[in-house]
Amino acid sequence: SENSDTLVVEGLSGGYDRFDVIHDIAFRVGRGEAVALLGPNGAGKTTIMRALTGLLARRRGRVEIDGVDVGSLPPHRIARGHAAMVPEGRRLFVGQSVEDNLRLGGLRHRRDRERTEQLLESVFELFPVVERYRRREATALSGGEQQMVAIGRMMMSDPSLMLLDEPSLGLAPLAIADLSAALRRLRERDHSILLVEQRVDLALEVCDRVYVVYGGRIVDEGRADDIGAEGRALIDAYLG
Ligand code: ATP
Repeated sequence: SENSDTLVVEGLSGGYDRFDVIHDIAFRVGRGEAVALLGPNGAGKTTIMRALTGLLARRRGRVEIDGVDVGSLPPHRIARGHAAMVPEGRRLFVGQSVEDNLRLGGLRHRRDRERTEQLLESVFELFPVVERYRRREATALSGGEQQMVAIGRMMMSDPSLMLLDEPSLGLAPLAIADLSAALRRLRERDHSILLVEQRVDLALEVCDRVYVVYGGRIVDEGRADDIGAEGRALIDAYLG
């Protein structure tokens, strides 16, 4: 039922200037579920993410997170506990330590020291490498390690919905394997996750369900464990 859904999107359209680039988008993320949006470059995946976080100025339709209609809230209000994003390219704070990057992500709890320390501990527990390098400058770490810091920073705002935009982008194959393991550990903690990916294998390893986005529309959906070789071929065909 809708009551157990973390995210419900209905009739979402919007875009830039006068042109819509996403059209009548409808999908859902259940509580504790990991869901992927798959699709080729320019399909509209990032635009959907921007609409969910309030960053897309021109949007219509319904976006409900944990039963709250966030469709008309500004980005800073949505970031306060509703949805937090790991942006494409990570965008860590330059010249700041790993730990400072994490603490900056947790600003909404700055008056709740105990909660901040709890969240920091849970990041360190999930990503031991982040704890090991907590005093190092974040942008001096490897790409894969920086991605863990970016995920940790997102966790620090304790959002209902976790959004990840192309986390595998630019990572070496070994780092992608680490990322896959990290995302599976995140899912096992019953967080609600929406992942945008171009790597079908990574998405199918991590997620319960996938939606295929093409030409600004959702054109297909399925359970990750139902998608056999044939389904993969079909998705690969969409992805070009
Ligand atoms: P990618 O993997 O390349 O990020 P995507 O599926 O996330 O692809 P979007 O970035 O959402 O796709 O882009 C969807 C469409 O919107 C594209 O045609 C793109 O050119 C257009 N677009 C994206 N950002 C802007 C912008 N700031 N102004 C105008 N058009 C934009």
